[in-house]
Amino acid sequence: MGKKIAILGSTGSIGRQALEVVDSQGYSVAALSAGRNIDLLEQQILRYRPPVVAVADVALAEVLDRRLDGMEKRPVLLAGPDAARNTVGECDADIVLNAIVGIAGLSATLTALSAGTDVALANKESLVAGGSLVMREQAVRGGKLLPVDSEHSAIFQCLQDPYSAESLSKIILTASGGPFYGKTAAELENMTKREALAHPNWSMGQKITIDSATLMNKGLELIEAMWLFDMRPEDIEIVVQRESIIHSMVEFEDGSVLAQFGVPDMRLPIQYALTWPLRVRGPAPRLDFEKLKSLSFGRPDEQTFRCLAACKKAAEKGGLAACAANGANEQAVALFLEDRIGFNDIGRLVEGCVDAESYAGDYQLDDVYACDAAARRYVLERAGI
Ligand code: NAD
Ligand code: MG
Repeated sequence: MGKKIAILGSTGSIGRQALEVVDSQGYSVAALSAGRNIDLLEQQILRYRPPVVAVADVALAEVLDRRLDGMEKRPVLLAGPDAARNTVGECDADIVLNAIVGIAGLSATLTALSAGTDVALANKESLVAGGSLVMREQAVRGGKLLPVDSEHSAIFQCLQDPYSAESLSKIILTASGGPFYGKTAAELENMTKREALAHPNWSMGQKITIDSATLMNKGLELIEAMWLFDMRPEDIEIVVQRESIIHSMVEFEDGSVLAQFGVPDMRLPIQYALTWPLRVRGPAPRLDFEKLKSLSFGRPDEQTFRCLAACKKAAEKGGLAACAANGANEQAVALFLEDRIGFNDIGRLVEGCVDAESYAGDYQLDDVYACDAAARRYVLERAGI
């Protein structure tokens, strides 16, 4: 098919799986980008021969630059915090897969959409922090957002029939519940990084794995779904589906519910975003119903998992509240991973930050970054750092 794909965040969990999909579909790679992992990036460059490469860390980019000396047809190498975004203008990708983690991915999403390029979006933080700007760019410039997050891919798949899509009444967003499902706040107080990083169903980057343990991930996904499918928070129900086989559901006006089933394997939603509207064979295994036997459902415990409650509050508040929740969470997760705060402190800090201001009103890109910086400062100050 010969599609040209730019993969931003190619050294991460989603980026590496995206390259497996590229292998299976025979696509070519228009650009690769990484934050700091230049060892893996170098291997990927030698194998996929992209014309453009980006590294966020300037010093590491210089190291990579020297290593690529003498390479035949060496790629253009961009360095610095804006490098990933700048690859979008430098390469001629048919589609940009944004698999950068955190608000660092926002500018690349906006740049690709504003060039009219489709974006396969794994970077949910783009929509959480700057949702109205991203949606405006999509509406005005014609680049299309194709969800990679498994839940949003499931919803998107359930809404492919335009007649049904018009009578959507509710989204049922499924959650695995994470490694601490059923635990009390007291039991969570002393949870360690190692325990929080042991997710039962999915193997992911560290930040999203912690987000899954705190249920922040589901809160971020609630906000992501509001933007992608134009829904109000009260029209999105979160249901725990422990086996991660039902990736989400939609309910229509007549009460009929459609669900998307599949093995918990991110290559499936990544591939669908890249092949849409077509479905083709790929590397993900098939679902075996005999092995599966049963599916179980439950409710998330918002009293214990305050990150989810905080995201719901932020969704109700609108404006920059979700951006503040996201920034506070990124900072708090970084501190937790450095063993500087406890597990429950993440929820306390995110909720405290959302409660601290009204965050109301329209915003521009500068306001997003200012709000993100203020939320990070809030967390550092409250944590006594
Ligand atoms: P990861 O930590 O494994 O990879 C992140 C990638 O981003 C790496 O390539 C890293 O080098 C790059 N990066 C980090 N900081 C950067 C910066 N400042 N500038 C440019 N690049 C930077 O993360 P992941 O698990 O692959 O997740 C990536 C995104 O996809 C996140 O937004 C996450 O929420 C979302 N997502 C992940 C999964 C999953 O299964 N892993 C599922 C759904 C959604
Ligand atoms: Mg998800």
